[in-house]
Amino acid sequence: VSVPNVDLIDGTAMPQLGFGVFQASDAEAEQAVRTALEQGYRSVDTASAYGNEEGVGRALRASGVPREELFITTKLWNDEQGYDSALRACDASLSRLGLDYLDLYLIHWPMPGRGTYLETWRALEELKRDGRVRAIGVSNFTVETLGRIIEEADAVPAVNQIELHPYFQQDGLRAFHRDHGIRTEAWAPLGQGHGLLDDPALDRIGRNHGRTPAQVVLRWHLQIGNVVIPKSVTPSRIAENIDVFGFELSPDDMKAIGELDQNTRFGPDPATFEMA
Ligand code: NAD
Repeated sequence: VSVPNVDLIDGTAMPQLGFGVFQASDAEAEQAVRTALEQGYRSVDTASAYGNEEGVGRALRASGVPREELFITTKLWNDEQGYDSALRACDASLSRLGLDYLDLYLIHWPMPGRGTYLETWRALEELKRDGRVRAIGVSNFTVETLGRIIEEADAVPAVNQIELHPYFQQDGLRAFHRDHGIRTEAWAPLGQGHGLLDDPALDRIGRNHGRTPAQVVLRWHLQIGNVVIPKSVTPSRIAENIDVFGFELSPDDMKAIGELDQNTRFGPDPATFEMA
């Protein structure tokens, strides 16, 4: 399977579908990333907070896939915010991954109450200038926190990685991203296993296409322009989740999924989340 790229605002090309490794141990992540690379995934999304960058790095090296074909994202954790500590955090992530550059580096949470995301962002701009990172972005940023970066910093975040799935569609934030050239990347694209995939509407649409509810949901993300990073450690699901380029949802299918929005998040609220 070959995954199409999307262009980010700084000209970097990013695969529209990648592989997530949240809540996988170092050993699980190593095994799962090896399977994913065999199945054709080239983009991997990890974070210093996931504690599995070393396992991810081992899988990348063992795969033999040339570095320039890979797209590796990691994220700076909350206790790494600040200008100098962000520069150090990037080096620490690079060394755990065994890489000499990242394709995408994200601020994991804005923590607006802490007030350090802007200086942290300036460190990411520096990392991009010196080549340690190809593209820089943010995660869990809101209209308010993104607006402050757009107003006060030099670079616009290339992506904002946010919770987004059919039960939490984030139309307002997506429109803001579109207006500013920020690419929307969906985390928990499958609803994190909280019952979304049992929705009868997804089952019905899937049966019409000979596809699973997970494939229908991933196809919906791709057709609205999102980047997606579904997670699984199960080989059959890893294969299933990348096999979404051979069919297309109809306008009626898209409308039916659009109507599933409950505006309910499963994860923390970025306006208040400050876990260290
Ligand atoms: P997800 O929506 O990808 O769901 C993963 C779960 O769905 C799996 O554990 C499994 O239980 C189930 N699943 C996967 N494939 C399936 C299939 N084909 N059929 C049935 N069930 C299936 O949730 P996620 O892992 O939370 O999100 C994806 C990635 O996003 C993460 O791995 C991580 O890389 C990233 N993420 C980022 C943040 C952030 O704050 N930036 C937060 C959470 C996740």
